[in-house]
Amino acid sequence: MSNVEAWIRHGSEMRRPLLVAKDVSSSDKIVIVGGGLSGLCCAYRIASKRPDMQVLLIEKAPHLGGVISTWKSGEWVCDLAVNATRPHPAFWRLVADLGLSSQFHASRSRAKSRWILLNGKKHRLSFLSLFKIGALKLRNGIKAARHGGASVSQLLPHQKIADAMTLGIVNDTSQNVDADFLMPAMTRFGDQPPMKASLLKKKINRSYPLFTPKTGTVASLDGGMQTLIDALQQKLETMENVSMTTGQEIESPQAAADMFDVPLHSVVWSAPGMVGKQESTELTVFAVGYRDVDVAKIPFGYGTLIPDPTVPFSGILHESDLHRSQRAPSGHRLFRIMAPHSRWDGDESKILDALKHHLGNSEPVLFENLGKRKIPCYPPGYMQHVAKQQFEFNCVGWGVSGVSITHVVDEAERIAEKF
Ligand SMILES: Cc1cc2nc3c(=O)[nH]c(=O)nc-3n(C[C@H](O)[C@H](O)[C@H](O)COP(=O)(O)OP(=O)(O)OC[C@H]3O[C@@H](n4cnc5c(N)ncnc54)[C@H](O)[C@@H]3O)c2cc1C
Repeated sequence: MSNVEAWIRHGSEMRRPLLVAKDVSSSDKIVIVGGGLSGLCCAYRIASKRPDMQVLLIEKAPHLGGVISTWKSGEWVCDLAVNATRPHPAFWRLVADLGLSSQFHASRSRAKSRWILLNGKKHRLSFLSLFKIGALKLRNGIKAARHGGASVSQLLPHQKIADAMTLGIVNDTSQNVDADFLMPAMTRFGDQPPMKASLLKKKINRSYPLFTPKTGTVASLDGGMQTLIDALQQKLETMENVSMTTGQEIESPQAAADMFDVPLHSVVWSAPGMVGKQESTELTVFAVGYRDVDVAKIPFGYGTLIPDPTVPFSGILHESDLHRSQRAPSGHRLFRIMAPHSRWDGDESKILDALKHHLGNSEPVLFENLGKRKIPCYPPGYMQHVAKQQFEFNCVGWGVSGVSITHVVDEAERIAEKF
């Protein structure tokens, strides 16, 4: 594949380092450790490309999917982790290849608006938000970040906007988050594209199977993200060259190599913990439902980011506004609440009190604590550190060079292309 074709296929993912072992293509058996979305996609892409090669996937938990899971109760449907995908052709290709096209839909364009709470007032995020940062300050921030290793707060010098964004993506404040990691295209981290960005964008847009997403929309699956995990698992179960084991923890890549009698270059580590001593933050996710009439004043939209650390949650996502598939019983709306443990002490009454302020005085008809999730930390300089790593094994997933599902899905294709 030429460099141009690779950029059209993978877009800005090409800027991110791919931690692939030099001799991986000489493997005749592959051992994948970790059965989250990343490990499942690597297994699917590699096993499809090389039906002659045995692919073993080992997961420590009793179930596959990693952090992804969808909670359901009657007609309420809410994801615990990722709920929708940003546009990227690799995700569209995965959906098409798994036969999920009829269950995959663009989000409602009416739900495009996103807000940020600044000094107690909601502001709609748009191109004009840049003026809140200040054009000159932003230009200087970008210039400084291009030296590499900067934090997102240095790149976007409006602390509250920067914090809202990083809290919404990685559950951490902007001074703790690496700008190269979160926005490699903006900081110009990694390789540069072989053509003008506008031309590349046009070519990428033409490469989407199913449908080309409109600017500002995302897309999701009927029944939540669990639908994708279930489809991957079912597909892998039908492939003769794949075997999957759950409930088995592997200590290290070397332990995987020894246990399954393969060289280190045949191990794909798809679990966190390989790049330095990676810390994590934690958050709790709530599903909250109201009758339509009780939240009629809340505008239809994507959701609100809340950088104010005195509020016990950092984001309110309008689940039933966003997705085309049903997330709440008729006549009701579903909101998803993210409560970082750095600002919430575990007292649910504090969440309920704050909801009164942010979503109205009425009692919710649904208030469900869905559970906790850990998110890896990506401190300033992280990506420069990752780019220097040279492992004898392969290392993938959100514990490495990208946090989003589009990253892990595309990375699996990039690894499979090595075979
Ligand atoms: C609350 C939340 C919201 C999110 N929202 C979005 C979003 O809106 N958009 C988006 O794009 N992404 C989002 N993400 C990120 C997205 O969910 C991840 O990018 C993706 O699911 C990561 O998949 P993974 O396989 O790399 O990691 P994981 O899901 O963490 O999987 C790793 C797997 O490895 C297993 N494992 C670990 N150690 C071992 C071991 N020693 N031996 C064997 N197995 C092991 C684990 O049990 C786990 O199953 C969100 C994540 C969270 C938590």
